[in-house]
Amino acid sequence: MKIIDGKNIASKLNADLKKHLVTIKKKFKINPCLIVILVGEIKASKIYVRNKEIIAREIGIESKVIKTSADISEKELLTIINECNHDDNIDGILVQLPLPQHINADNIIKAINPQKDVDGFHPENIGLLALGRPKVIPCTPYGCYKLLNSITSLEGKNIIILGRSSIVGKPLSYLLTSKNSTITLAHSKSEKINSLCADKDIVIAAIGIPNIVKKDWIKPGAIVIDVGINSVKDDTGKTKILGDVDFQNILPIVSFITPVPGGVGPMTIHCLLENTISLAISKKNIDYKLI
Ligand code: NAP
Repeated sequence: MKIIDGKNIASKLNADLKKHLVTIKKKFKINPCLIVILVGEIKASKIYVRNKEIIAREIGIESKVIKTSADISEKELLTIINECNHDDNIDGILVQLPLPQHINADNIIKAINPQKDVDGFHPENIGLLALGRPKVIPCTPYGCYKLLNSITSLEGKNIIILGRSSIVGKPLSYLLTSKNSTITLAHSKSEKINSLCADKDIVIAAIGIPNIVKKDWIKPGAIVIDVGINSVKDDTGKTKILGDVDFQNILPIVSFITPVPGGVGPMTIHCLLENTISLAISKKNIDYKLI
């Protein structure tokens, strides 16, 4: 099957995590706890946080959401993070992005204890990943890697990543470099982006523009991973979710492709929950291999 069923893969991996958790709870008395801090009322963020909570509970991870109003000050938010950092019952802290404009996201991410940084965005964790010694791998890049690793060997592959954000493109480039792939990292100032894609074995799109990646960009037989989640209105005014890739037209020529929704998204949640359990294990200094 050409379409990579991220939902199904994530669901199997979540079932494995659930089994591990039963063992870990019994053997080591570890009860992983994830705190999600949700600022304001962004609809997409609320849906995403609710989905995380549902799957965390299914697996057996304790998950709590701290909701604050959009006008919380940066100082007040830092106080909440500081309390979570010092709460021994909390293993993972995630601040849902984006934050309101009056809050500096870098200051917030920097304030999270790197040992509780389930998103892996803290400069210390990004630095370790860039050095090839990761402790916490950011969830979406990790999810992309797991999908790719389930269908192909990455060593020596020519890969282009479209988008260089700190949460997707850049950390993914570090991760795949450490797996011996050859990476091109493209962005809005890249020239002739279509011809940059033309000879690549794998194209990963993380731009945030619906259907921007066209069929004539893609080498026949390539693998395409679509990270994009774009909310658009159709002719009837109904909202639907589209990826960055012109899926229907590209599907016939690729060897594998992820759909949107149901591709990278469920893997991101899986990786978040795996990271939560991993952090709970490493806090107790226990020698237990999750994967
Ligand atoms: P972002 O921070 O807005 O970054 C977008 C990147 O795309 C930037 O590097 C930008 O270049 C580049 N870009 C913009 N226009 C471009 C163009 N015409 N050609 C080439 N590159 C272009 O976005 P993000 O947070 O990385 O998210 C990207 C997409 O992934 C969004 O749709 C988001 O919703 C989705 N996403 C999905 C998941 C998931 O779990 N599936 C998780 C996170 C994000 P510059 O650096 O030059 O500005």
